[in-house]
Amino acid sequence: MDIRAIQFRSTGGPEMLEEVRLAVPAPGPGEALVRHTAIGVNFIDTYHRSGVYPATLPAVPGVEAAGIVEAVGEGVAHVAPGDRVVYFCAVPGAYCEARTLDARWLVKLPDGIADEEAAAAWLKACTVEFLVERCAKVGAGDHVVVTAAAGGVGLLLCRWLSEIGATVIAITSSPAKAELARAAGAHHSLSYSDMPGTVRAITGGRGAEIVLDGVGRATFEAALDSLAKRGLLVSFGNASGKVGPVDFGLLATKGSLFTTRPTLFDYYATPEDFTAGTARVFAMWPKLRITIGQRYPLAEAARCHADLEARATTGSALLIP
Ligand code: NDP
Repeated sequence: MDIRAIQFRSTGGPEMLEEVRLAVPAPGPGEALVRHTAIGVNFIDTYHRSGVYPATLPAVPGVEAAGIVEAVGEGVAHVAPGDRVVYFCAVPGAYCEARTLDARWLVKLPDGIADEEAAAAWLKACTVEFLVERCAKVGAGDHVVVTAAAGGVGLLLCRWLSEIGATVIAITSSPAKAELARAAGAHHSLSYSDMPGTVRAITGGRGAEIVLDGVGRATFEAALDSLAKRGLLVSFGNASGKVGPVDFGLLATKGSLFTTRPTLFDYYATPEDFTAGTARVFAMWPKLRITIGQRYPLAEAARCHADLEARATTGSALLIP
């Protein structure tokens, strides 16, 4: 089968993304062929394209989509042709009309969840699930600082955290984004320059128990300075660049702090993790009220990446094949 796809031959800016035609192989044992109806865009796609994370060239970016199963290979029993499915996966290749992939990533969609909603939030909601419940183990009453709080992951963090009784301190770069974060359940919304001073004022001088930071290099020190003694920084992304070499002693001088740099795939590494994590995400789904901030035709993937990297998007972005 011949399909349209977005590919980059060498790493670089959004202009590296070009439309090509590719052949999709029939599914082998354990695989399925999925025709995409909506493709989720994630910041990690820009890391693959720019070379921040390694990619085997030429490469098709994208790690998340929803669609219809067209065919399955030998040994695949949990999905069948005609099923509506969503997936995230460790192997990029989702920016295309259809792909063949390891069927273990595929999850059947219940009738109540539309394809676009699923593609917009599946990877991001699973990320929020592991960050909040299994990595940071947030409890009711904890003060949690969320940076990039009006982004795809950010808005879902605000909704999930407020739902479980945490006090959410949202950090965003504009008043319009601050308003979105508040509408998603954040109790306080601040600008980056308010970290750490206003975070300390809100917490009676103590600092927050937890900072969930996807911005990386630009916010690392301010995030540590926003924490209470023995607080936890979960540094889960590099939207502003990777956190550079760190003086480990900072964790001592700033209050016996903890920090971790987790990834989704380590928390969804076993079938047991996957089953329990995705069940929890489906249970929380009605509370998440997914925000699709922008849709782009698949052919305009470069414009989508440029917007994402210019901080011009809010909520989730989709590519429509
Ligand atoms: P977002 O929709 O959140 O977009 C990124 C946001 O980061 C921007 O909107 C912007 O919000 C903020 N930002 C701050 N500085 C910069 C900068 N220099 N350039 C661009 N953006 C900047 O993206 P996602 O929801 O897809 O991802 C959010 C973060 O979560 C990313 O770092 C991503 O890598 C990470 N992630 C990590 C996972 C993991 O397993 N560890 C899994 C999924 C996502 P503002 O203008 O408000 O600052």
